[in-house]
Amino acid sequence: MAEIEECIFCKVAHGKLPAYILHKDEHVVAFHDINPQAPVHVLVVPVKHIPDLESAAETDVDIVGRMFQAAARVASDLRFAKNGYRLVLNNGGGAGQIVPHLHLHVMSGRRFDWPPG
Ligand code: AMP
Ligand code: ZN
Repeated sequence: MAEIEECIFCKVAHGKLPAYILHKDEHVVAFHDINPQAPVHVLVVPVKHIPDLESAAETDVDIVGRMFQAAARVASDLRFAKNGYRLVLNNGGGAGQIVPHLHLHVMSGRRFDWPPG
Protein backbone atom coordinates (compact mmCIF):
# COMPACT_ATOMS: atom_id res chain seq x y z
CA MET A 1 0.00 0.00 0.00
CA ALA A 2 2.87 2.36 0.84
CA GLU A 3 4.25 1.66 -2.62
CA ILE A 4 1.02 2.91 -4.18
CA GLU A 5 0.83 5.98 -1.93
CA GLU A 6 4.33 6.98 -3.05
CA CYS A 7 3.71 6.23 -6.74
CA ILE A 8 3.92 9.40 -8.82
CA PHE A 9 1.63 8.14 -11.56
CA CYS A 10 -0.98 7.07 -9.00
CA LYS A 11 -0.75 10.63 -7.67
CA VAL A 12 -1.26 12.06 -11.16
CA ALA A 13 -4.14 9.65 -11.83
CA HIS A 14 -5.86 10.69 -8.60
CA GLY A 15 -5.27 14.41 -8.99
CA LYS A 16 -2.71 14.60 -6.17
CA LEU A 17 0.14 15.70 -8.40
CA PRO A 18 -0.34 18.32 -11.12
CA ALA A 19 0.11 17.28 -14.72
CA TYR A 20 -0.93 18.59 -18.12
CA ILE A 21 -3.77 16.14 -18.62
CA LEU A 22 -5.04 15.48 -22.15
CA HIS A 23 -7.48 12.69 -21.43
CA LYS A 24 -8.89 11.10 -18.32
CA ASP A 25 -11.57 8.52 -17.76
CA GLU A 26 -12.22 5.88 -15.14
CA HIS A 27 -9.60 3.53 -16.64
CA VAL A 28 -6.72 5.59 -18.09
CA VAL A 29 -5.07 9.01 -17.94
CA ALA A 30 -2.97 10.67 -20.66
CA PHE A 31 -0.67 13.59 -19.82
CA HIS A 32 2.41 15.34 -21.18
CA ASP A 33 5.75 13.88 -20.11
CA ILE A 34 7.57 16.30 -17.81
CA ASN A 35 10.86 15.71 -19.65
CA PRO A 36 9.87 15.35 -23.32
CA GLN A 37 12.14 13.38 -25.62
CA ALA A 38 10.26 14.46 -28.75
CA PRO A 39 8.19 17.51 -29.79
CA VAL A 40 5.16 15.49 -28.67
CA HIS A 41 5.71 13.18 -25.71
CA VAL A 42 2.62 11.97 -23.90
CA LEU A 43 2.31 9.26 -21.25
CA VAL A 44 -0.73 7.01 -20.99
CA VAL A 45 -1.15 5.25 -17.65
CA PRO A 46 -3.83 3.07 -16.12
CA VAL A 47 -5.68 4.61 -13.17
CA LYS A 48 -5.14 1.28 -11.42
CA HIS A 49 -1.65 0.75 -10.01
CA ILE A 50 -0.17 -1.96 -12.23
CA PRO A 51 3.64 -1.97 -11.83
CA ASP A 52 4.48 -3.73 -15.10
CA LEU A 53 3.11 -6.15 -17.67
CA GLU A 54 3.92 -9.19 -15.55
CA SER A 55 1.74 -7.74 -12.81
CA ALA A 56 -1.20 -7.28 -15.16
CA ALA A 57 -3.90 -9.82 -14.37
CA GLU A 58 -6.21 -11.51 -16.87
CA THR A 59 -8.86 -9.03 -15.75
CA ASP A 60 -6.54 -6.12 -16.66
CA VAL A 61 -6.52 -7.00 -20.36
CA ASP A 62 -9.26 -4.46 -21.01
CA ILE A 63 -7.25 -1.73 -19.27
CA VAL A 64 -4.13 -2.51 -21.29
CA GLY A 65 -6.21 -2.32 -24.47
CA ARG A 66 -7.64 0.99 -23.33
CA MET A 67 -4.12 2.39 -22.96
CA PHE A 68 -3.57 1.85 -26.69
CA GLN A 69 -7.01 3.22 -27.49
CA ALA A 70 -6.19 6.37 -25.47
CA ALA A 71 -2.88 6.73 -27.33
CA ALA A 72 -4.73 6.68 -30.65
CA ARG A 73 -7.26 9.16 -29.32
CA VAL A 74 -4.54 11.60 -28.22
CA ALA A 75 -2.82 11.21 -31.61
CA SER A 76 -6.07 12.09 -33.28
CA ASP A 77 -6.94 14.97 -30.90
CA LEU A 78 -3.46 16.54 -31.21
CA ARG A 79 -3.50 15.89 -34.97
CA PHE A 80 -0.27 13.96 -35.25
CA ALA A 81 -1.88 10.61 -36.09
CA LYS A 82 -1.35 10.93 -39.80
CA ASN A 83 2.33 11.84 -39.39
CA GLY A 84 2.91 8.67 -37.41
CA TYR A 85 3.99 8.18 -33.86
CA ARG A 86 6.17 5.92 -31.79
CA LEU A 87 4.75 3.94 -28.86
CA VAL A 88 7.28 2.79 -26.26
CA LEU A 89 6.67 0.67 -23.20
CA ASN A 90 9.77 0.30 -21.06
CA ASN A 91 9.04 -2.85 -19.08
CA GLY A 92 11.52 -3.51 -16.28
CA GLY A 93 14.67 -1.74 -15.17
CA GLY A 94 16.78 -3.41 -17.83
CA ALA A 95 14.60 -1.81 -20.49
CA GLY A 96 14.75 1.63 -18.90
CA GLN A 97 11.60 1.60 -16.79
CA ILE A 98 12.12 4.11 -14.00
CA VAL A 99 8.57 4.64 -12.77
CA PRO A 100 7.08 1.34 -11.53
CA HIS A 101 3.57 2.06 -12.76
CA LEU A 102 2.77 0.74 -16.24
CA HIS A 103 2.89 3.51 -18.85
CA LEU A 104 2.93 3.93 -22.59
CA HIS A 105 5.10 6.64 -24.11
CA VAL A 106 3.43 8.26 -27.14
CA MET A 107 5.94 10.26 -29.15
CA SER A 108 5.76 12.20 -32.38
CA GLY A 109 7.14 15.20 -34.25
CA ARG A 110 10.61 13.92 -35.09
CA ARG A 111 12.29 11.03 -36.84
CA PHE A 112 12.51 7.78 -34.90
CA ASP A 113 15.29 5.35 -35.60
CA TRP A 114 14.94 1.61 -35.85
CA PRO A 115 16.09 -0.34 -33.95
CA PRO A 116 15.49 2.00 -31.01
CA GLY A 117 18.39 2.85 -28.71
P1 AMP B 1 10.24 5.28 -17.87
O1 AMP B 1 11.71 5.51 -17.97
O2 AMP B 1 9.71 4.46 -19.02
O3 AMP B 1 9.84 4.72 -16.51
O4 AMP B 1 9.57 6.68 -18.06
C1 AMP B 1 9.18 7.50 -17.00
C2 AMP B 1 8.79 8.82 -17.60
O5 AMP B 1 8.04 9.55 -16.67
C3 AMP B 1 9.98 9.70 -18.02
O6 AMP B 1 9.88 10.01 -19.41
C4 AMP B 1 9.80 10.95 -17.14
O7 AMP B 1 10.18 12.13 -17.79
C5 AMP B 1 8.31 10.90 -16.83
N1 AMP B 1 7.89 11.57 -15.60
C6 AMP B 1 8.40 11.43 -14.36
N2 AMP B 1 7.70 12.15 -13.47
C7 AMP B 1 6.72 12.79 -14.17
C8 AMP B 1 5.68 13.69 -13.82
N3 AMP B 1 5.48 14.09 -12.55
N4 AMP B 1 4.84 14.14 -14.80
C9 AMP B 1 5.04 13.74 -16.07
N5 AMP B 1 5.99 12.90 -16.47
C10 AMP B 1 6.84 12.42 -15.53
ZN1 ZN C 1 0.95 3.69 -9.29
